[in-house]
Parts: sequence; C-alpha cells; structure tokens
Amino acid sequence: MEMNLRKNFLNALQGKPVDRVPALSVTQTGTWKLMEMTDTSWPEAHSDPEKMAALALAGHEIAGLEAVRYPYCLTVLAEALGCEVRMGTKSIQPSVLSHPFSKGPEGLKVPEDLLERGRIPALLEATEILAARTGKGKGKGNEIGKETGKGEVPLIAGMEGPLAVFSHLAEIKSSLIWMIKKPDYVARFMETCTEVCTEYANALLDHGADAICMPDGGIVATRMMPPSILEDSVKPFYKEFCKKLNGPKILHICGDVGGSLKTLSECGFDAISIEEKVSIKAAKAAIGDRARVIGNIAPSSTLLFGTPEHVKAEAKQCLSDGVDILAPGCGIAPMTPLANMRAIVEARDEWYEER
Ligand SMILES: [Zn+2]
Repeated sequence: MEMNLRKNFLNALQGKPVDRVPALSVTQTGTWKLMEMTDTSWPEAHSDPEKMAALALAGHEIAGLEAVRYPYCLTVLAEALGCEVRMGTKSIQPSVLSHPFSKGPEGLKVPEDLLERGRIPALLEATEILAARTGKGKGKGNEIGKETGKGEVPLIAGMEGPLAVFSHLAEIKSSLIWMIKKPDYVARFMETCTEVCTEYANALLDHGADAICMPDGGIVATRMMPPSILEDSVKPFYKEFCKKLNGPKILHICGDVGGSLKTLSECGFDAISIEEKVSIKAAKAAIGDRARVIGNIAPSSTLLFGTPEHVKAEAKQCLSDGVDILAPGCGIAPMTPLANMRAIVEARDEWYEER
C-alpha cells in the first residue's frame, strides 16, 4: 500500500482514488474473544476510557480491521440528557430504561454543561487515548504506525443520531404517534436533539476522531414512518447536522431502507452504511454519486454463524458489486469468531489477487 490506512479511508469516504477498498467496521467491534485477549469486558468498557480504548484497538491490532471503532453502545447522549441507562452484561449492550420527556418537549433544551455530563468526559478521554495510539498526536503508546508499517489508522467514533435520541427521550411509541399527530413536538425534539448531536460530534472530532458514524433512524425501516415524515421532519435536521459538522460523517441505517436511500443520500453524509437487506447494487443505484456505500456482510447469519469461507464469499460479492468500503452490515455480535473477523480483510486481499 502506498497510502497509510487513514488516508486510504478518508479518500474512500470522499470518492477519491484508493490503494485498496478499505476493509473495516463502522459499527461496533467488541467481541468476547477480543475482550479476553485484551483483559477487558463489557460493561466496564462502556465507561472506562482505558478499557474502551484497549478493546477498540484490538479490532485493528488483533482482528486486522483497517480502522479503530469505538464505543460499543448507543446510549451516551440519552444518558447525558437524563435517561436512566442499564449498563448490560458481557453480551448485552446498554439500554435506556426511562424516558424523561414522554409527555412532550416541555423543558427540553441543550444543557450548557453537555460535554461534562454522564459518560461524555470518558468518551472524550478515550478519543484522546485512541488518537495517540492510532498514530496521531504525541501521546503515550504512539507506536502503532511503526509496528505495523502502515502508519496512521483511522479512528471512527460511533454515536446516536437525533432520531435515536428523540425516541429515547420520548419513548418510541410516543415519538411515532407525534410524527403523525404533533409535528410541532417533533420539530422541537429534532431541533434540540440535532444541536446536542452536533455539539457532541464536533467535540469527538476535536479530540481526535477522524470520522463520525451515526447509527440512526432504525424506525425509518420499520415502515411505521411515512416517506413524507422522513422528507419533512427528519431530512432538514440531518442536513443541518451535516452542514455544521467539522469532519466526515457516516449514516448507518438498519433494516430494509431501500426506498429511503435516495432521500437519505441528499442530506450531506459522506457515506451511508447499510445492512445486507439492501443489495449493494440497489444502494449504489439509489444513492448515485451523492454519497459512498458501506457494507454489508451479514453480521448474524454470516459473521456470527458462518465460516471464514462464507465471510469471504459474501465480502467478495460486495466488492464485485462496487461497495466503496467493505464492512459488516451492522454491529458485530459479541460471540463472533475471531477467524471470521479476520476473514474480512483476507477476502479483500484475495479479491484483488484473483482479479
Ligand atoms: Zn444496523
């Protein structure tokens, strides 16, 4: 490779020439095997910056993925805004227990001390540790580039998007009902949640993240949200978020979102990460050159339950279909075998050799 992994990734996000299509994960990478090998574990790795960083680095150093991706949950902003969070177990991710705005947006505003709330200081500290250990800055342990000879490694920060924060604050049922009956409520929630997401995302970028990945809009794929709501109540806020962000941003959307991809690609995201329920070819056709396509090796049927050969066959098909960044279609399941994670990069290399 001529470029270091960071440059190769950033080029891929912008649709510029790459040495090889990057092979990595923009969704969660914490597995039992990596926890065992790094002496870390959930739930501690959701709050302890050193453990969070060590487990994230393992995705690159041990599993070979061409990026470091952290954290492992989607509850940081909900918690900072007052939701009670259950931290889960070694195999269950944190979840939101209480919904402080289930009656409406009364009293909802961006906290002045947002960046000091909940686990946000821990996340910013983990970002600094990881920025140093992925070859940026002068922090301790800045050896990764020298050891691998690959230079800087991209650092991808995951975070909830405005729709996810909204549905946590209000509870999913209320948020769906209000989308139909109380558009003024939805606008107030989305405005505040977008401001919160923007401030937090820019703080992550300031502290050394190379890109933001925002898994959001799971309800877009449930068919409970009419296309007009996506267009009128979500898109303007996604556009606002993208406009104000000081770095690359990736939208991850779960489920069968084929029909919404055109609208989503008009918001300003550099790339959209999709599940295997949408084919790469169909996604490329819907998105055009407005954004790059990331995906979509099946995380459950293939990565968790398949063999390295299954992973490679699916990965090579994604590459042949023109995927811009090769990745799992969603978060990697904690019990995923290490050999299957490693097969992602191996498949990419074989695909180039076989051409
Ligand atoms: Zn997903």
